[in-house]
Amino acid sequence: MPEAQETILEINLSALTHNYNYLRSRIPENCRFLAVVKAFAYGHDQVKIAQHLENIGVDYFAVAYTNEGINLRENGITKPIMVLHPQPVNFNALSEYNLEPSLYSQYVLSQFIKSAEKNGLENYPIHIKFNTGLNRLGFWENDLDWIMSQIEQTRSIKIKSILSHLAASEDLNEREFSMNQIKSFTKTAKAFTEKLGYAPMLHMCNTSGILNYPEAHFDMVRSGIGLYGFGNSEKESKNLIPIASLKSVISQIHRIEDGETVGYNRAFKSGGFMKTATIPIGHADGIGRQYGNGIGRVYIKGKPAPILGNVCMDMIMVDVTSIDCKEGDEVILFDKDHSAENMALKASTISYELITAISSRVRRLYLE
Ligand SMILES: *Cc1c(COP(=O)(O)O)cnc(C)c1O
Repeated sequence: MPEAQETILEINLSALTHNYNYLRSRIPENCRFLAVVKAFAYGHDQVKIAQHLENIGVDYFAVAYTNEGINLRENGITKPIMVLHPQPVNFNALSEYNLEPSLYSQYVLSQFIKSAEKNGLENYPIHIKFNTGLNRLGFWENDLDWIMSQIEQTRSIKIKSILSHLAASEDLNEREFSMNQIKSFTKTAKAFTEKLGYAPMLHMCNTSGILNYPEAHFDMVRSGIGLYGFGNSEKESKNLIPIASLKSVISQIHRIEDGETVGYNRAFKSGGFMKTATIPIGHADGIGRQYGNGIGRVYIKGKPAPILGNVCMDMIMVDVTSIDCKEGDEVILFDKDHSAENMALKASTISYELITAISSRVRRLYLE
């Protein structure tokens, strides 16, 4: 790989294949695999990622919002796409693009039926989501009779799956809570299936659910973060490979004296002679201000260089006093050896936030 000469997010598609194969090896042969590619495929570009995953055999996709699904369809993705958080204002477009809504309340279900009937749809695939403790989106079990009454009055829709979402699948201290969610989902799904007279697919697990709750794999699992290389724990992350490397370059080197300051608001004050490097990546690229003032670091020639002072919009300055480096040298923000998960933890956030924040200004480069 030639050294980076500008800020790039390098994405390794064979690592994506590795992660997919690893996660698949943790679920039964006949369990379907849904890849979550919402939020720009967690910052990696949903079209490239979905195309690659479709080629290697993923069964299903999910996005959060309708426009994300439309973008996939317009770029040739043909596998089924679930929209996790569809909104009534988009229902006509949703069915026009053959996207499948996950419906979670009386209001959205009745609005969807209205739209489906108006558009002359028959047996249109929908998914019914139950709340089992996350208290975010989902019907309650006691909505079952109401749901049945709606379904019996229309031919426009067909229940393709029943789902729920774990609230703390990565936290083994919450095992009892998670087991109760699984129990409650099993009970609701069983009652629903009996009333329906046919058996929709059941699914509940995100990445940490796949890894920690084999008893909840049901008919399908939904993985996002794991595909991108993070396991939400040191142990599980060992089996996965972060697919993205965020790289940049040294734009300028300064030598400063005792008492001089670096960057806006003079937030860093030098306590002696120092060498600083200016790097062309800032909060507009996704390196938030919380990484400033020594919380975040970059790697140059394999050595850590802490961020000095405040993160600017387009740049950061780092301490390279003890690193033998020059303008034009490559800089690593994170890669498979310098994990984004650790970088995020240092700033009291999670890998999800760091990687989804890498802005569209950063060029993506795909390695097969
Ligand atoms: C985002 C999301 C997932 C994927 O979660 P990961 O932890 O990234 O695997 C699965 N299911 C739902 C409902 C989600 O919103």
